[in-house]
Amino acid sequence: MLAPFRATSKNAKFLLYFFLPTRQASTLSYHSEADNLNTSLFRQLCDSSIYLVINRVNRINRFFAALFLTPDSNLRNLQITYATRRAVGFLLPGMEEPDKLRVLTKLQQLQEEWSNGKKTESYIAQENVFWAAVDQEYALGPSQLHLLEDRRWTEDSGWSKAEKRNMLETLDFDPYLFEREEHKLLVLTYEMFDSLGLIDRFKVPRGILQNFLLQLQASYRRIPFHNFFHSYNVTHTVYYFLTVCNVKNHLGQIELFALLLSALCHDIDHPGLNNTFLSNAKTDMGSHYNDFSVLEQHHCHKTFEMLGKPECNVLINLNHIEATRVRKYIAACILATDLSVHGPYLAQLKQMQTVDWSSTQDKELIMCGLIKCADISNEIRPTQIGRRWAQRVMTEFFAQSSLEKEKGLPVAPHMDPTKTTTATGQIGFITYLGLPLFNELTRLFPNMKVCCDQMIENRANWERERSKKTGAT
Ligand SMILES: [Zn+2]
Repeated sequence: MLAPFRATSKNAKFLLYFFLPTRQASTLSYHSEADNLNTSLFRQLCDSSIYLVINRVNRINRFFAALFLTPDSNLRNLQITYATRRAVGFLLPGMEEPDKLRVLTKLQQLQEEWSNGKKTESYIAQENVFWAAVDQEYALGPSQLHLLEDRRWTEDSGWSKAEKRNMLETLDFDPYLFEREEHKLLVLTYEMFDSLGLIDRFKVPRGILQNFLLQLQASYRRIPFHNFFHSYNVTHTVYYFLTVCNVKNHLGQIELFALLLSALCHDIDHPGLNNTFLSNAKTDMGSHYNDFSVLEQHHCHKTFEMLGKPECNVLINLNHIEATRVRKYIAACILATDLSVHGPYLAQLKQMQTVDWSSTQDKELIMCGLIKCADISNEIRPTQIGRRWAQRVMTEFFAQSSLEKEKGLPVAPHMDPTKTTTATGQIGFITYLGLPLFNELTRLFPNMKVCCDQMIENRANWERERSKKTGAT
């Protein structure tokens, strides 16, 4: 077992050489790259922290990122840690592969070395959010870093409870409004759990729910569609079904808890490529799951992995039976979002004349139906909001088809910009996927009819657009 690594000025210098492949290392002084640090604090850090310097002279003009990963559990040097973590999060995407690999390997090694040390729960939570961000290779936003430090964010949003409910109980809401203040979406998510009484009922510790939400946000990739905004959107829509459409009256607290968690987690770590691509391109992820519901199994795995971390385990105070039930529901709901099994789900819903609310099987089928509806709900929103989502989907589809062409893989017509348009894609989607599913749920929950009506209106708009374009050419 390795002893925890203690950095001193001497081995800091060694690490500095380790990361600098050229003689440039000798031109660096300890002070030059520590732009914003005062000398005494800097010296203190050198003694108490691991200090690495990454010189990116070639890629970023004289950009130096000083990385201090402090094993200090009392978070004495937290501010500096944040600054440097942000720098690394920012730096990785711009790095060339060999450099990136070297940095990541070293960081992983250091993390392993520290894992023997005693860490506070709060420190572990921060570290995990950071690692999730590094895995995804994007920078932690300043707001997220701020949230880690200041745990009052669920109370200090500046919104009253009534304002939060008003935002939640409508579909006329575009989460991209908060593109630069993503934490506000976490505040709204927290409110969903609170207003459904789940925090009280399941004694979810506030800090753990906060950790869970931050880790969740960091686990989504920065891609055009299957990102954290989509996760939020699906969860918001499920909440809308439950509250405004009165679906919650039929379900128990266990089911409501599982539904919100499933919606939040259902696309975790989505790479922006679909199952067909992952299999056709013979990716590791594809082979790992035997080319069967590859993404959905991966999302499930990532969800359970996150719940397996004590600092993120929102199920911590459920008894064994309750926790097992929630996990079963989550797995069922996430796996149901694979569109290749859409047909069988629809057939089962069609056969359901009435719901036996005492049957777990019936409840599970309804929950899967709700998640599936929410997942394909872009077109139940006001036209302008729906259009923006449609464009994001197409951007991701077109990126995939261009990659497929590059790799000589088969290309689906609905993803090929030379064979389809956004209007054609949306009309087909509403007609063959959206409406048939929403119609079945509306039969069981009549208040969901507003969703069908909006979808029909949006389809008419797309049809007008398509005929205008066809007429013009
Ligand atoms: Zn989704």
